[in-house]
Amino acid sequence: MSAKMVTTLREIQTIFDQVNVGKKVLDKISVWRGDITKLEIDAIVNAANSELAGGGGVDGAIHNAAGRRELQAECRKIGRCAVGDTVATSACKLTHVKKILHTVGPQVWDDLTKSDRVKLLNCYATSLELAVENGLKSIAFPCISTGIYGYPNDDAATSVMNFLCKFFLKSQHRDKIDRVVLCLFLEVDNRCYNNEIQRVTEYF
Ligand code: ADP
Repeated sequence: MSAKMVTTLREIQTIFDQVNVGKKVLDKISVWRGDITKLEIDAIVNAANSELAGGGGVDGAIHNAAGRRELQAECRKIGRCAVGDTVATSACKLTHVKKILHTVGPQVWDDLTKSDRVKLLNCYATSLELAVENGLKSIAFPCISTGIYGYPNDDAATSVMNFLCKFFLKSQHRDKIDRVVLCLFLEVDNRCYNNEIQRVTEYF
């Protein structure tokens, strides 16, 4: 037997652990295509603006479904939200949801920078933190910033998948979240995220 063919028990154990841990990670991340307001889940994340004023895109869809007057009244009481930060409101008329988490993504008008990526991932991190604080175990994210705010779809998908894998592997709060649903609305995101799922599956 050549030296190359020898695999130590320790290596086998490492591979075994990686596969098991990897499977557990992937068990907690789902992609789902459709309107986020139709999901029955503990928390949905809104891609809001800093003024929490209610805009177009997914923000408009969530305000319409939750009831504009009621949701805007709650948002006005909170005031503003910084880029990368997240605030929580009730779900108003969305009775199949416990909370709406409003996060503000970066606006990318020029070339993408590292700081844009950090801001985008902060949206995911602060939303998960707030979910944990509120005892919310399942959470659905739209593709934050990749619509009107112009963040490149492929970079967002790769960065978000890497971030979520790290969260479920390393975060002290990983056991407090049962499921993250990545809610895809457009074909481009469907393609990007399915590539990512394949990439991560092959890695593990
Ligand atoms: P941003 O301003 O952060 O870019 P947008 O609302 O413009 O936010 O877009 C974010 C993503 O949400 C886009 O992929 C868009 O297609 C998607 N989207 C729009 N409406 C919905 C909806 N009802 N449910 C889920 N995703 C949606």
